[in-house]
Amino acid sequence: MAKPDPAAGLNGTRTGNICSGCNKGIQSGDLVRGYVTHYDRDGWVLRRLYCDSCGDTTIDRGTEDADEAIIEAVFWNHRLAGVTILDRNREESV
Ligand SMILES: [Zn+2]
Repeated sequence: MAKPDPAAGLNGTRTGNICSGCNKGIQSGDLVRGYVTHYDRDGWVLRRLYCDSCGDTTIDRGTEDADEAIIEAVFWNHRLAGVTILDRNREESV
């Protein structure tokens, strides 16, 4: 079963504005990175939000049976905009 595309699923997601790495406040218009996971029932969920200087661009650890991805987005008015996928642990053909 193909899962929904993370970029489409996460556009417009409301999020906090504090970087999980350095606790810096993120401003509207800043580039952010996020670690997102997909469990069967939840859809894509943003687990961690990072500023541009802290976020990983690749997935470096496994999560128990979750589909994971690293996203990049513009933080705008406490929402994610223009989400793109930097890395994903399970590439699924469309
Ligand atoms: Zn940071």
